[in-house]
Amino acid sequence: MAKFDPKTKYDIVPDMINIEDFNRYPEEFVVRPPYQRKTVWSRRKQQDLLDSLFRRFYVPRIVLREVRLSDDRAVKEVIDGQQRITTVQNFFADKLPLPNSLNDLNPKLPGRRYSQLPVDVRKFVNRLSYQADIVKGIADPMNPAHQEVATEIFWRLQQGESLNYMEEAHSKLSSLVRNFVVKYADDQRFNYDKYEPIDKNQDKHNFFVLLKRKNDRMQHLALLVRFLLIEKETRIVDIRNADVVEYIESEIQQDGIGNYDLEEKVYAKHVLQNLNLFYDIFKDDPSVQNGDPIPELRIEYFIMSVYLLLRHLRTYYVFDKTEEELFRDFVVTFHERWSNARQTDRDILLFSNSRQQSAGEIEVRDRIIRQAFFEFADQHNHKMLTKDRRRAFNEAERIKIYRRDEGLCQVCLAENKPEKEAQVSWSEYQADHVIPHAKGGATDIANAQLLCRYHNQQKGARLPTS
Ligand SMILES: [Zn+2]
Repeated sequence: MAKFDPKTKYDIVPDMINIEDFNRYPEEFVVRPPYQRKTVWSRRKQQDLLDSLFRRFYVPRIVLREVRLSDDRAVKEVIDGQQRITTVQNFFADKLPLPNSLNDLNPKLPGRRYSQLPVDVRKFVNRLSYQADIVKGIADPMNPAHQEVATEIFWRLQQGESLNYMEEAHSKLSSLVRNFVVKYADDQRFNYDKYEPIDKNQDKHNFFVLLKRKNDRMQHLALLVRFLLIEKETRIVDIRNADVVEYIESEIQQDGIGNYDLEEKVYAKHVLQNLNLFYDIFKDDPSVQNGDPIPELRIEYFIMSVYLLLRHLRTYYVFDKTEEELFRDFVVTFHERWSNARQTDRDILLFSNSRQQSAGEIEVRDRIIRQAFFEFADQHNHKMLTKDRRRAFNEAERIKIYRRDEGLCQVCLAENKPEKEAQVSWSEYQADHVIPHAKGGATDIANAQLLCRYHNQQKGARLPTS
């Protein structure tokens, strides 16, 4: 009978790494892999490690994965041991003094930094090493299967630290949804071309600075997935945790690692437009000006309902500066009513009791907040104008306008240009809304005029939303 010998997915090669190497050749080590988040040990914890090193106590083995960047270039990715490595790097960089606990070993040690140590002690430090296990055979950074195994090893080493649903989904490196939400909602990213972590993500959307809501357990990423889900279905759907995970997994692609194609989709663009508008509305708020979030935007289900209201309004109604101000005032007023809910305020009680992320409960909240908004608009004597749902003139209308205006640019004529110069050929001609569509102008030939390309562009520059 043949020997029982299950096939392995990778090999482990034991090694010893001089701790000085982490300081002298930092580029050889990728301290934070793409599936991992940045964590920082307290100074106390870092000094405890220095204490152990100086006493030559046992320090657990670090786990490194060999990652091959090209035929002659490889790096070691830190699957486990991020803090043990950054601690010694900090020590060599003189950022970390030795702890008082080392007093009994030698009274000259406490408080000293690396460069302040006598030569013999520095020599001792330079000879210290970490025991390491090197993972080999899963070295291709663009191979989803290899990244998956590395992620799996990482998880299994996170003893006792349970990851939540979003943290687990975050490590699906080949999901296009995952990549989109990391780009626009995470604090940190990863550069696959250079194969190195980016600690500050410059692409994170400003919308998130408005929220009085932490991102330590990836709350911002989860919120953005929920926005995407609704936009993708163009209606309110279930956006519970399980739906978030299912959606992220449904967009896993073979060439998904480092792939940002999702942002080309119309629904993803709509989400970003909603976030842009949301940010524009609140960016001048005194809190934001002081670098603080908006106190009203703290609870996820409340944020979700406010977001959905804005999305609805900008889709169906004329939404300009006046409406933006009205909206901002409404959010503050509605929040006040919500946080001081009286037993007699049945709508608000219903709103608060429907805080789940199921389609049914979101719709209940949506109706209540919308009704409240339109009542608020009435109280402020503001009439919300509906947009004509159809934006473009159809072929028959375009012909009618061209014939009615006799192929002449109406602005050129108004500028007293001779007819010869105002003449616009059919292929050059633009049918223009006199009252812009975004301002409630109807798509109707009574609200149309013929423009030359030049005047159409000029109008477009002045009124970007026409
Ligand atoms: Zn013209």
